[in-house]
Amino acid sequence: MNNHYPFELPPLPYAYNALEPYLNAETLKFHHDKHFKSYVDHLNQALEKLTAYQNWPLERLIRENYRLPFQMQTAVWNNAGGVYNHNLYFNLMQSPGGKCPEGKLTNAIISAFGSLEKFEERFKQCAMKQFGSGYAWLAADCRGRLKVLNTLNQDTPLPRGLCPVLLVDVWEHAYYLQYQNRRGEYLDAFMHLINWTAAEENYRRCFGRPMMCCGRK
Ligand code: MN
Repeated sequence: MNNHYPFELPPLPYAYNALEPYLNAETLKFHHDKHFKSYVDHLNQALEKLTAYQNWPLERLIRENYRLPFQMQTAVWNNAGGVYNHNLYFNLMQSPGGKCPEGKLTNAIISAFGSLEKFEERFKQCAMKQFGSGYAWLAADCRGRLKVLNTLNQDTPLPRGLCPVLLVDVWEHAYYLQYQNRRGEYLDAFMHLINWTAAEENYRRCFGRPMMCCGRK
């Protein structure tokens, strides 16, 4: 995907039915082809006349949103967040039966939460308590310490100086076709689909950047 305007909808990294039975093809197709696409299209529309910002990467549009013309800030914030979050989300799933977490991320999870099971419990609780639309996250601070947190709408952990490792989309559009209002069942299903290799890569990338929280007052 282009990391600046015009943004493109990245293809789904697996077949529509690859996550069945935990997430069915219909749910995935609507979520990726309609909802994700709509964030991409709206972000491009918002940036169409903002020529000075068309070379900004996605993360900068979020982090330095306050630099944009005031009347465009909300549209760019929501849609850049939508593109950023959905790109992460679809890349963090894979067909059921994938590898368990290992390596550096596993050690960090055990040291932060006690065990993988305890982490999953915290992550699910956090996703359950998100009122309305949003996400639950596993994110790292500048020292690599992990935190579970939730965010509203299309907000991201970036402005808090945190580096995303894993997230789950708890907007109803992510699960309603298959699970209706049963968010808990969707979350249990999601746990079978986590691509821990991708999460580990995200975690490793968190160390490659001169962060964020260290430089923030
Ligand atoms: Mn979504």
